[in-house]
Amino acid sequence: MKIAFIGLGNMGSGMAANLVKAGHDVRAFDLSADALDLAKDNGCTIFTAARDAAQNVDAVISMLPSGAIVKSVYTADIIGHAPLGAILIDCSTIDVDTAREVANMAKDAGYAMVDAPVSGGTGAANAGTLTFMVGGADAAFAHAEPILSAMGQAAIHAGAAGAGQAAKICNNMLLGIQMIGTCEAFAMAQKLGLDPQTFYDISSVSSGQNWSMTSYCPMPGIGPQSPADNDYQGGFSSALMLKDLTLAMEAAQSAGASTPLGKHVQELYKTFAAENGGLDFSAIIKTL
Ligand code: NAD
Repeated sequence: MKIAFIGLGNMGSGMAANLVKAGHDVRAFDLSADALDLAKDNGCTIFTAARDAAQNVDAVISMLPSGAIVKSVYTADIIGHAPLGAILIDCSTIDVDTAREVANMAKDAGYAMVDAPVSGGTGAANAGTLTFMVGGADAAFAHAEPILSAMGQAAIHAGAAGAGQAAKICNNMLLGIQMIGTCEAFAMAQKLGLDPQTFYDISSVSSGQNWSMTSYCPMPGIGPQSPADNDYQGGFSSALMLKDLTLAMEAAQSAGASTPLGKHVQELYKTFAAENGGLDFSAIIKTL
């Protein structure tokens, strides 16, 4: 299959490389010359304009930083330039309203489009083990699924256009709340004289058990290997957690949802990420 890939940064480079490994003809465009050099080394054909990469392809995939960029790339270079039979797949994490707006513009122009944000970081992007949360019509999902399977372990149809983004930000809002709750519990247990390992042994088999504790423990030396064991380097950055919480709060406002904990956690990450945006999001335990 001929696939245009727009945005080959930390995530997109590994995803495009996995499409090449699966036998696809990948046509890459990025604004960064370094990203294009890496894409070339990974077997992609590189282009100097997104609209040229999108000519005569069967699919267009984008992995871009923001909704404004996604909208401008699709309106300027993809819609009206890619063939009408091509499936359009945006894997970026963006706001629900923009995802719906771009999908509607694509639909009005005769294209099938899905939003397909991912769970899993750069490790999963490189290993081809991402999970895609997909929003779009049934036929569009069926068209996109075999392509997504070359880059991930699962693609779940969440509903109509924008539903993939909705699932992603609701999940990550819950993750942020859960992580801070877990950090608070560990910090308070210590102040109350409990050994952290003992607290883990009890809570991990009691009703406080959760993913942030037993799969991604914010306390070094406890539980399975996690960024805490590497001085909070790597993993999922506090800056990206703040991005997702901000998208979640925008969506909550737009939908009239009450999210008092989500709002508070967004404020805590805003303060933390201002100084520590590159650290893993579990490093927020340092503030407690
Ligand atoms: P990144 O900044 O490393 O990559 C984005 C790439 O897009 C860059 O190479 C940039 O040059 C390119 N770009 C920007 N504007 C462009 C344009 N107009 N045309 C073409 N290329 C353009 O970001 P990333 O970490 O790869 O994240 C990409 C998306 O994936 C984001 O929406 C992010 O929220 C999401 N995400 C990231 C992670 C992660 O762990 N990094 C995890 C899940 C989801």
